[in-house]
Amino acid sequence: MYNQYPTTRKEAQETKATHYFTGLPCKHGHIALRKTKGTCMDCLKIEWEETNAKRALLPKSEASKKAGKKYYENNKELIKSKALGRSLEDRKRYRDKWAKDNPELRKANTKHRRTKHKQATPKWLTQEQKTAIKQFYLDAMAATRVTGTPYVVDHIIPLRGKLVSGLHVPWNLAVITREENHIKANKLIDTPPK
Ligand SMILES: [Zn+2]
Repeated sequence: MYNQYPTTRKEAQETKATHYFTGLPCKHGHIALRKTKGTCMDCLKIEWEETNAKRALLPKSEASKKAGKKYYENNKELIKSKALGRSLEDRKRYRDKWAKDNPELRKANTKHRRTKHKQATPKWLTQEQKTAIKQFYLDAMAATRVTGTPYVVDHIIPLRGKLVSGLHVPWNLAVITREENHIKANKLIDTPPK
């Protein structure tokens, strides 16, 4: 796997390679690639994760929220595909973190809502379509995490509309900001049926 890399730091320096691989554990026991300046890549990854975790705990400024939102809008597909490629454990970790960061949203995710969703889910929905529904919720979580702005899954046609009731199916879902969702909900209440 690593046989295209120099095996010593000296060799890496001499050949101007960016990384080398000794096959020996670092002082923390990782057998991983090392940067030519000597840093173990696994140690570096842990360090990044710790820094990011710390940063995530800090309150976000309006400017950074705005930048995050812009980044999300420009990199939606990449962020989504990354979320798809994540392990179940990682997903659980993000989900737990999201729940912790969004207590309000979490509370809203009550038994009532689940019942509402279940009732609006047609029996004929395929497993793929059910997975697609889950993906919308993962996307909303990823968007919230990246932007610092809460994103929610919206039912394009509300499940219990005044005139028609929508279904809990992938083609009736959209990831929008919570704010947009509130605006939409208010509009639906304010607008008398024609
Ligand atoms: Zn290490």
